[in-house]
Amino acid sequence: MGGTAERALGVHRVLEPAGVLPQAALRLDPDPTVGPDEVRIAVQRLNLDAASFRQLSEAHGGDGEAVRAAVLGIVETRGKMQNPVTGSGGMLIGVVDAVGPESPLGLSVGDKVATLVSLSLTPLRLTDGLTGWDGRSEQVPAQGTAILFARSIAAVLPDDLPDAVSLALLDVCGAPAATARVVERTGARSVVVLGAAGKSGSLSLAAARTAGARHLTGLVRTEAEAAALTASGLADRVVVADATDPLAVAAAVGTPADLTVVCVDARGAEHGAILATADGGTVVFFSMATSFSAAALGAEGMAADVTMLVGNGYTPGHAALALDLYRTQPGVRSLIDPRVTE
Ligand code: NAP
Repeated sequence: MGGTAERALGVHRVLEPAGVLPQAALRLDPDPTVGPDEVRIAVQRLNLDAASFRQLSEAHGGDGEAVRAAVLGIVETRGKMQNPVTGSGGMLIGVVDAVGPESPLGLSVGDKVATLVSLSLTPLRLTDGLTGWDGRSEQVPAQGTAILFARSIAAVLPDDLPDAVSLALLDVCGAPAATARVVERTGARSVVVLGAAGKSGSLSLAAARTAGARHLTGLVRTEAEAAALTASGLADRVVVADATDPLAVAAAVGTPADLTVVCVDARGAEHGAILATADGGTVVFFSMATSFSAAALGAEGMAADVTMLVGNGYTPGHAALALDLYRTQPGVRSLIDPRVTE
Protein backbone atom coordinates (compact mmCIF):
# COMPACT_ATOMS: atom_id res chain seq x y z
CA MET A 1 0.00 0.00 0.00
CA GLY A 2 2.96 2.34 0.59
CA GLY A 3 3.29 5.18 3.07
CA THR A 4 1.08 8.18 3.63
CA ALA A 5 2.94 10.31 1.09
CA GLU A 6 2.54 7.63 -1.59
CA ARG A 7 -1.14 7.17 -0.76
CA ALA A 8 -1.62 10.92 -1.08
CA LEU A 9 -0.45 10.63 -4.70
CA GLY A 10 -2.87 7.79 -5.37
CA VAL A 11 -0.22 5.10 -5.83
CA HIS A 12 -2.46 2.58 -4.03
CA ARG A 13 -4.98 2.88 -6.92
CA VAL A 14 -2.47 1.87 -9.62
CA LEU A 15 -3.17 -1.63 -10.94
CA GLU A 16 -0.51 -1.69 -13.64
CA PRO A 17 2.35 -1.25 -14.15
CA ALA A 18 3.57 -1.32 -10.55
CA GLY A 19 5.62 1.58 -9.32
CA VAL A 20 4.26 4.40 -11.51
CA LEU A 21 2.10 7.33 -10.50
CA PRO A 22 -1.59 7.32 -11.54
CA GLN A 23 -1.05 9.60 -14.55
CA ALA A 24 1.40 7.15 -16.12
CA ALA A 25 -0.58 4.04 -15.18
CA LEU A 26 -2.20 1.87 -17.81
CA ARG A 27 -4.97 0.92 -15.41
CA LEU A 28 -6.36 2.34 -12.17
CA ASP A 29 -8.71 0.80 -9.64
CA PRO A 30 -11.93 2.87 -9.83
CA ASP A 31 -13.62 1.10 -6.88
CA PRO A 32 -16.08 3.62 -5.40
CA THR A 33 -15.26 2.61 -1.81
CA VAL A 34 -13.41 5.61 -0.37
CA GLY A 35 -10.19 5.22 1.55
CA PRO A 36 -9.62 7.22 4.75
CA ASP A 37 -7.87 10.07 2.91
CA GLU A 38 -9.99 10.05 -0.27
CA VAL A 39 -13.05 11.89 -1.53
CA ARG A 40 -15.72 10.40 -3.80
CA ILE A 41 -17.59 12.51 -6.32
CA ALA A 42 -20.93 11.62 -7.90
CA VAL A 43 -20.10 12.59 -11.48
CA GLN A 44 -22.43 14.86 -13.46
CA ARG A 45 -20.39 15.98 -16.46
CA LEU A 46 -17.00 15.32 -18.01
CA ASN A 47 -15.08 17.85 -20.05
CA LEU A 48 -12.85 16.00 -22.49
CA ASP A 49 -9.56 17.70 -23.26
CA ALA A 50 -9.84 19.48 -26.64
CA ALA A 51 -6.88 17.65 -28.18
CA SER A 52 -8.28 14.30 -27.02
CA PHE A 53 -11.77 15.01 -28.35
CA ARG A 54 -10.40 16.18 -31.71
CA GLN A 55 -8.28 13.04 -32.01
CA LEU A 56 -11.20 10.75 -31.20
CA SER A 57 -13.55 12.58 -33.57
CA GLU A 58 -11.06 12.46 -36.41
CA ALA A 59 -10.19 8.81 -35.78
CA HIS A 60 -13.90 7.91 -36.05
CA GLY A 61 -14.74 10.20 -38.95
CA GLY A 62 -17.04 12.33 -36.80
CA ASP A 63 -19.30 9.35 -35.97
CA GLY A 64 -20.70 10.32 -32.55
CA GLU A 65 -21.83 6.79 -31.69
CA ALA A 66 -18.33 5.48 -32.34
CA VAL A 67 -16.75 8.27 -30.28
CA ARG A 68 -19.12 7.48 -27.39
CA ALA A 69 -18.23 3.80 -27.59
CA ALA A 70 -14.54 4.67 -27.66
CA VAL A 71 -14.76 6.82 -24.52
CA LEU A 72 -16.74 4.12 -22.71
CA GLY A 73 -14.16 1.55 -23.77
CA ILE A 74 -11.25 3.67 -22.53
CA VAL A 75 -12.84 4.26 -19.12
CA GLU A 76 -13.80 0.62 -18.76
CA THR A 77 -10.33 -0.60 -19.70
CA ARG A 78 -8.20 1.97 -17.94
CA GLY A 79 -10.32 2.95 -14.92
CA LYS A 80 -9.78 6.57 -15.98
CA MET A 81 -10.42 8.75 -19.04
CA GLN A 82 -7.02 9.02 -20.65
CA ASN A 83 -6.82 9.10 -24.43
CA PRO A 84 -4.14 6.53 -25.33
CA VAL A 85 -3.04 8.59 -28.36
CA THR A 86 -2.82 12.10 -26.87
CA GLY A 87 -2.26 10.94 -23.29
CA SER A 88 -4.56 13.72 -22.13
CA GLY A 89 -7.77 13.63 -20.11
CA GLY A 90 -9.86 16.65 -19.20
CA MET A 91 -11.73 17.21 -15.95
CA LEU A 92 -15.18 16.77 -14.43
CA ILE A 93 -17.85 18.28 -12.27
CA GLY A 94 -20.04 16.53 -9.75
CA VAL A 95 -21.23 16.49 -6.16
CA VAL A 96 -19.09 15.27 -3.26
CA ASP A 97 -20.88 12.24 -1.82
CA ALA A 98 -18.30 10.74 0.55
CA VAL A 99 -15.33 12.20 2.41
CA GLY A 100 -12.80 10.02 4.20
CA PRO A 101 -12.10 11.14 7.78
CA GLU A 102 -8.46 11.95 6.98
CA SER A 103 -9.02 13.83 3.71
CA PRO A 104 -7.14 17.15 3.81
CA LEU A 105 -9.05 18.70 0.88
CA GLY A 106 -11.57 20.61 3.01
CA LEU A 107 -14.55 19.32 1.02
CA SER A 108 -17.94 18.39 2.50
CA VAL A 109 -20.64 16.02 1.34
CA GLY A 110 -22.99 18.01 -0.92
CA ASP A 111 -20.35 20.40 -2.29
CA LYS A 112 -20.64 20.87 -6.03
CA VAL A 113 -17.10 20.80 -7.35
CA ALA A 114 -14.90 20.77 -10.40
CA THR A 115 -11.80 18.62 -10.22
CA LEU A 116 -8.71 20.61 -11.10
CA VAL A 117 -6.59 17.52 -11.60
CA SER A 118 -6.63 15.74 -14.92
CA LEU A 119 -9.01 12.91 -15.76
CA SER A 120 -5.85 11.16 -16.94
CA LEU A 121 -5.10 10.33 -13.30
CA THR A 122 -8.58 10.31 -11.74
CA PRO A 123 -10.12 6.89 -10.92
CA LEU A 124 -13.45 6.90 -12.77
CA ARG A 125 -16.34 4.47 -13.05
CA LEU A 126 -19.24 5.25 -15.39
CA THR A 127 -22.68 3.78 -14.67
CA ASP A 128 -24.96 5.27 -17.33
CA GLY A 129 -23.34 4.07 -20.56
CA LEU A 130 -23.09 7.78 -21.46
CA THR A 131 -26.61 7.54 -22.86
CA GLY A 132 -27.14 11.30 -22.49
CA TRP A 133 -24.26 12.14 -24.85
CA ASP A 134 -24.25 12.14 -28.64
CA GLY A 135 -20.46 11.91 -28.92
CA ARG A 136 -20.24 15.25 -30.71
CA SER A 137 -19.18 17.67 -27.97
CA GLU A 138 -16.31 17.97 -25.51
CA GLN A 139 -18.78 18.18 -22.64
CA VAL A 140 -20.23 14.82 -21.69
CA PRO A 141 -23.25 14.43 -19.39
CA ALA A 142 -22.32 11.40 -17.32
CA GLN A 143 -23.16 9.41 -14.21
CA GLY A 144 -20.73 7.45 -12.12
CA THR A 145 -18.10 7.95 -9.47
CA ALA A 146 -14.68 9.57 -9.36
CA ILE A 147 -12.05 9.50 -6.61
CA LEU A 148 -9.81 12.33 -5.42
CA PHE A 149 -6.63 11.55 -3.53
CA ALA A 150 -5.24 13.51 -0.60
CA ARG A 151 -2.84 15.39 -2.88
CA SER A 152 -5.48 16.66 -5.27
CA ILE A 153 -7.21 19.87 -6.03
CA ALA A 154 -10.87 20.70 -6.56
CA ALA A 155 -12.78 23.96 -6.74
CA VAL A 156 -16.27 24.51 -5.36
CA LEU A 157 -18.28 25.74 -8.37
CA PRO A 158 -19.32 29.38 -8.31
CA ASP A 159 -23.06 30.16 -8.00
CA ASP A 160 -23.07 32.96 -10.55
CA LEU A 161 -22.03 31.01 -13.66
CA PRO A 162 -23.64 28.11 -15.52
CA ASP A 163 -21.90 24.84 -14.65
CA ALA A 164 -20.98 24.19 -18.28
CA VAL A 165 -19.19 27.54 -18.46
CA SER A 166 -17.31 26.94 -15.20
CA LEU A 167 -16.28 23.51 -16.42
CA ALA A 168 -14.92 24.89 -19.69
CA LEU A 169 -13.06 27.72 -17.93
CA LEU A 170 -11.55 25.55 -15.24
CA ASP A 171 -10.38 22.97 -17.79
CA VAL A 172 -8.09 25.54 -19.44
CA CYS A 173 -7.37 27.86 -16.50
CA GLY A 174 -3.67 26.93 -16.56
CA ALA A 175 -3.21 28.84 -19.84
CA PRO A 176 -4.08 32.38 -18.71
CA ALA A 177 -2.20 31.82 -15.45
CA ALA A 178 0.95 30.71 -17.28
CA THR A 179 0.66 33.62 -19.72
CA ALA A 180 0.27 36.18 -16.94
CA ARG A 181 3.18 34.69 -15.02
CA VAL A 182 5.56 34.88 -18.01
CA VAL A 183 4.51 38.45 -18.85
CA GLU A 184 5.00 39.52 -15.24
CA ARG A 185 8.32 37.73 -14.78
CA THR A 186 9.95 38.56 -18.13
CA GLY A 187 8.37 41.93 -18.85
CA ALA A 188 7.24 40.61 -22.25
CA ARG A 189 5.63 43.41 -24.22
CA SER A 190 4.56 41.63 -27.39
CA VAL A 191 2.57 38.40 -27.34
CA VAL A 192 1.34 36.06 -30.07
CA VAL A 193 -1.37 33.51 -29.30
CA LEU A 194 -1.85 30.61 -31.72
CA GLY A 195 -5.46 29.40 -31.67
CA ALA A 196 -6.47 32.75 -30.21
CA ALA A 197 -10.23 32.46 -30.73
CA GLY A 198 -10.52 29.26 -28.68
CA LYS A 199 -11.15 28.94 -24.95
CA SER A 200 -7.59 28.90 -23.68
CA GLY A 201 -6.52 31.30 -26.44
CA SER A 202 -9.03 34.02 -25.64
CA LEU A 203 -8.31 33.74 -21.91
CA SER A 204 -4.57 33.95 -22.59
CA LEU A 205 -4.96 37.14 -24.62
CA ALA A 206 -7.03 38.70 -21.85
CA ALA A 207 -4.50 37.59 -19.22
CA ALA A 208 -1.57 38.98 -21.23
CA ARG A 209 -3.25 42.38 -21.46
CA THR A 210 -4.13 42.43 -17.78
CA ALA A 211 -0.57 41.49 -16.86
CA GLY A 212 0.85 44.43 -18.82
CA ALA A 213 1.63 43.22 -22.36
CA ARG A 214 0.78 45.78 -25.01
CA HIS A 215 1.14 44.35 -28.52
CA LEU A 216 -1.17 41.38 -28.76
CA THR A 217 -1.48 39.32 -31.93
CA GLY A 218 -4.08 36.59 -32.26
CA LEU A 219 -3.53 33.93 -34.93
CA VAL A 220 -6.60 32.01 -36.10
CA ARG A 221 -7.28 29.57 -38.89
CA THR A 222 -10.44 30.90 -40.53
CA GLU A 223 -11.94 34.22 -41.58
CA ALA A 224 -14.97 33.48 -39.38
CA GLU A 225 -12.74 33.16 -36.32
CA ALA A 226 -10.86 36.28 -37.39
CA ALA A 227 -14.11 38.23 -37.46
CA ALA A 228 -15.14 36.93 -34.04
CA LEU A 229 -11.75 37.67 -32.50
CA THR A 230 -11.64 41.15 -34.02
CA ALA A 231 -15.11 41.89 -32.65
CA SER A 232 -14.04 40.70 -29.20
CA GLY A 233 -11.39 43.42 -28.97
CA LEU A 234 -8.99 41.06 -27.16
CA ALA A 235 -6.20 41.35 -29.76
CA ASP A 236 -4.52 44.42 -31.24
CA ARG A 237 -3.95 42.51 -34.46
CA VAL A 238 -5.62 39.43 -35.89
CA VAL A 239 -3.88 37.28 -38.50
CA VAL A 240 -5.12 34.23 -40.37
CA ALA A 241 -2.85 31.23 -40.94
CA ASP A 242 -2.66 27.50 -40.36
CA ALA A 243 -0.71 27.11 -37.12
CA THR A 244 0.71 23.82 -38.41
CA ASP A 245 2.35 25.56 -41.40
CA PRO A 246 5.50 27.16 -39.93
CA LEU A 247 6.36 29.40 -42.86
CA ALA A 248 2.78 30.66 -43.07
CA VAL A 249 2.84 31.42 -39.34
CA ALA A 250 6.12 33.32 -39.62
CA ALA A 251 4.86 35.32 -42.58
CA ALA A 252 1.56 36.15 -40.87
CA VAL A 253 3.14 37.15 -37.56
CA GLY A 254 5.95 39.27 -39.05
CA THR A 255 8.19 40.67 -36.32
CA PRO A 256 8.63 37.86 -33.77
CA ALA A 257 7.13 38.37 -30.32
CA ASP A 258 8.55 38.26 -26.79
CA LEU A 259 6.07 35.53 -25.88
CA THR A 260 4.15 32.98 -27.94
CA VAL A 261 1.37 30.91 -26.39
CA VAL A 262 0.29 27.75 -28.22
CA CYS A 263 -3.43 27.16 -27.67
CA VAL A 264 -4.35 25.15 -30.75
CA ASP A 265 -5.71 21.64 -30.34
CA ALA A 266 -3.97 20.25 -33.44
CA ARG A 267 -0.59 18.58 -33.81
CA GLY A 268 2.33 20.25 -35.56
CA ALA A 269 2.30 23.81 -34.17
CA GLU A 270 5.79 23.63 -32.59
CA HIS A 271 7.89 25.04 -35.42
CA GLY A 272 5.57 27.90 -36.26
CA ALA A 273 5.52 28.88 -32.60
CA ILE A 274 9.32 28.95 -32.45
CA LEU A 275 9.54 31.06 -35.61
CA ALA A 276 6.98 33.47 -34.17
CA THR A 277 9.18 34.08 -31.11
CA ALA A 278 12.07 36.54 -30.86
CA ASP A 279 15.53 35.46 -29.72
CA GLY A 280 15.53 35.56 -25.93
CA GLY A 281 11.75 35.15 -25.91
CA THR A 282 9.50 32.45 -24.45
CA VAL A 283 7.10 29.89 -25.88
CA VAL A 284 4.41 28.41 -23.66
CA PHE A 285 3.21 25.12 -25.12
CA PHE A 286 -0.21 24.78 -23.51
CA SER A 287 -1.50 22.44 -26.21
CA MET A 288 -1.66 18.77 -25.31
CA ALA A 289 -0.91 17.98 -28.94
CA THR A 290 2.63 19.31 -28.48
CA SER A 291 5.58 17.04 -29.26
CA PHE A 292 8.56 17.51 -26.95
CA SER A 293 10.96 16.20 -29.59
CA ALA A 294 9.53 18.39 -32.36
CA ALA A 295 9.85 21.45 -30.12
CA ALA A 296 13.33 20.70 -28.79
CA LEU A 297 14.85 19.52 -32.06
CA GLY A 298 13.09 22.22 -34.06
CA ALA A 299 14.48 24.99 -31.87
CA GLU A 300 17.94 23.48 -32.07
CA GLY A 301 17.69 23.13 -35.84
CA MET A 302 16.72 26.77 -36.22
CA ALA A 303 19.39 27.91 -33.70
CA ALA A 304 16.53 29.63 -31.91
CA ASP A 305 17.44 30.96 -28.45
CA VAL A 306 13.98 30.64 -26.95
CA THR A 307 12.86 29.41 -23.56
CA MET A 308 10.21 26.74 -23.98
CA LEU A 309 7.77 26.05 -21.19
CA VAL A 310 5.40 23.15 -20.81
CA GLY A 311 2.00 24.60 -19.93
CA ASN A 312 1.55 23.20 -16.45
CA GLY A 313 -2.17 22.85 -15.82
CA TYR A 314 -1.62 24.06 -12.26
CA THR A 315 -0.49 27.47 -11.11
CA PRO A 316 -1.58 28.91 -7.75
CA GLY A 317 -4.65 31.11 -8.26
CA HIS A 318 -5.32 29.79 -11.76
CA ALA A 319 -9.01 29.00 -11.25
CA ALA A 320 -9.88 32.38 -9.74
CA LEU A 321 -8.00 34.21 -12.51
CA ALA A 322 -9.86 32.43 -15.33
CA LEU A 323 -13.27 32.90 -13.70
CA ASP A 324 -12.48 36.56 -13.10
CA LEU A 325 -11.40 37.17 -16.71
CA TYR A 326 -14.64 35.60 -17.93
CA ARG A 327 -16.74 37.69 -15.54
CA THR A 328 -15.04 41.00 -16.29
CA GLN A 329 -14.16 40.79 -19.99
CA PRO A 330 -17.06 40.75 -22.44
CA GLY A 331 -14.62 39.81 -25.23
CA VAL A 332 -13.77 36.56 -23.45
CA ARG A 333 -17.45 35.78 -22.98
CA SER A 334 -18.21 36.47 -26.64
CA LEU A 335 -15.70 33.83 -27.75
CA ILE A 336 -16.26 31.20 -25.07
CA ASP A 337 -20.06 31.17 -24.81
CA PRO A 338 -20.68 29.84 -28.34
CA ARG A 339 -18.25 26.98 -27.64
CA VAL A 340 -20.03 25.84 -24.51
CA THR A 341 -23.06 23.64 -24.84
CA GLU A 342 -25.40 23.33 -21.89
P1 NAP B 1 -10.40 25.15 -28.25
O1 NAP B 1 -11.32 26.01 -27.46
O2 NAP B 1 -10.98 24.12 -29.18
O3 NAP B 1 -9.43 26.11 -29.08
C1 NAP B 1 -8.49 25.62 -29.98
C2 NAP B 1 -8.39 26.63 -31.12
O4 NAP B 1 -7.32 26.27 -32.00
C3 NAP B 1 -9.67 26.68 -31.95
O5 NAP B 1 -10.01 28.02 -32.19
C4 NAP B 1 -9.24 25.96 -33.22
O6 NAP B 1 -9.97 26.37 -34.37
C5 NAP B 1 -7.81 26.41 -33.32
N1 NAP B 1 -7.04 25.61 -34.24
C6 NAP B 1 -7.03 24.26 -34.39
N2 NAP B 1 -6.18 23.90 -35.37
C7 NAP B 1 -5.63 25.05 -35.83
C8 NAP B 1 -4.67 25.33 -36.85
N3 NAP B 1 -4.11 24.36 -37.55
N4 NAP B 1 -4.34 26.62 -37.06
C9 NAP B 1 -4.88 27.63 -36.34
N5 NAP B 1 -5.80 27.42 -35.37
C10 NAP B 1 -6.17 26.15 -35.13
O7 NAP B 1 -9.39 24.37 -27.32
P2 NAP B 1 -8.97 24.66 -25.79
O8 NAP B 1 -9.96 24.01 -24.88
O9 NAP B 1 -8.64 26.09 -25.63
O10 NAP B 1 -7.66 23.78 -25.72
C11 NAP B 1 -6.51 24.16 -26.47
C12 NAP B 1 -5.35 23.21 -26.17
O11 NAP B 1 -5.03 23.27 -24.77
C13 NAP B 1 -5.66 21.75 -26.47
O12 NAP B 1 -4.57 21.17 -27.14
C14 NAP B 1 -5.80 21.14 -25.11
O13 NAP B 1 -5.39 19.80 -25.14
C15 NAP B 1 -4.84 21.96 -24.29
N6 NAP B 1 -5.07 21.89 -22.82
C16 NAP B 1 -3.96 21.87 -22.03
C17 NAP B 1 -4.07 21.80 -20.65
C18 NAP B 1 -2.84 21.83 -19.81
O14 NAP B 1 -2.93 21.59 -18.63
N7 NAP B 1 -1.68 22.15 -20.38
C19 NAP B 1 -5.34 21.75 -20.06
C20 NAP B 1 -6.47 21.79 -20.89
C21 NAP B 1 -6.31 21.87 -22.28
P3 NAP B 1 -11.32 25.58 -34.77
O15 NAP B 1 -12.30 25.83 -33.68
O16 NAP B 1 -11.66 26.23 -36.07
O17 NAP B 1 -10.94 24.15 -34.89
